[in-house]
Amino acid sequence: MRSKFLAYLILSLLAGTHSAVVSAQVRAIYDQGSSALTRQLQRLQTTASVLHTGAHPDDEDSALIAYHARRLSARTAYLSLTRGSGGQNIIGAEQSDALGVIRTEELLQARRLDGAQQLFTRANDFGFSKYRTEASQLWPEETLLGDMVRAIRMFRPTVIVSRWNGSPADGHGHHQFAGYLTPLALEAAADPNRFPDQIADGLRPWQAQKLYTGQRINPDATDMPSLVVNTGEYDPATGHSYFEIGMQGRSQQKTQQMGSLELRGRQLSGLQLVSSQLDASGRERESTIFTGIDTSINGLAIFEQDATSTFAGLLADLQTAAAEVLSQYDPL
Ligand SMILES: [Zn+2]
Repeated sequence: MRSKFLAYLILSLLAGTHSAVVSAQVRAIYDQGSSALTRQLQRLQTTASVLHTGAHPDDEDSALIAYHARRLSARTAYLSLTRGSGGQNIIGAEQSDALGVIRTEELLQARRLDGAQQLFTRANDFGFSKYRTEASQLWPEETLLGDMVRAIRMFRPTVIVSRWNGSPADGHGHHQFAGYLTPLALEAAADPNRFPDQIADGLRPWQAQKLYTGQRINPDATDMPSLVVNTGEYDPATGHSYFEIGMQGRSQQKTQQMGSLELRGRQLSGLQLVSSQLDASGRERESTIFTGIDTSINGLAIFEQDATSTFAGLLADLQTAAAEVLSQYDPL
């Protein structure tokens, strides 16, 4: 009897150890229960989507990503040129490719919290560089541009947000390269004559409607971003602000010592509008990156060349049904 009890105890302890290991993985806590259903119903209302671009794990504006994915209910992704394998590892001995594997998982864990998807190109992180020209010596521009164009044609973002603007002010040569490539990729993705192998694979050209770059908010009022977003807004569905959620995700990047304070209250991200497909009448004062763009379900009619009134009617029915189910849902 005693030995049976001991065996049971040992098995229980082992099981406990096992479950402790499993629970060490990040759970998509905001995508469970009533807050998850709230978010899914909110996402049904809109066709908005945004692709953030950068060079490395940690380049992304995590709070802005959380805001876009969870406040604006947009389909959101971060496209990192590299997996960060050229950096330093604060918590272990892994370097190079092994570090790239860990950082890939760190980004995936971050996205489980901030609500976005994660994409990469084939660029190998070869370590620090000062200038874009150094990066372009080791990175074949056409190959990486093709990878970005493929990502855009697959994800089909309404808007693209580039963390970097391609100038020396970006610092790292990789950052400058990412900032330089992003507008080229936006343009090439819309051109059916660019990367025709992708078109042969079944992808279609895609025209993103706007491009923004990240911009620091300086006290100097003459150099203000065109759009300032308060990511400190409170989300009643989760009981946290979008900034807090973004920082919880950012803190997953442990090899980079990215433990981030989950501050409450007003937190600002700055964006500069670089290009837009909207005519002058659509360039009203912007409150979000989607201002002026029809992101309703009804707006999908522009993608149907032979749109009949029946088709428009079906979209309208869908829009009404989506609004109705959200209004009837009470998470409390
Ligand atoms: Zn970086």
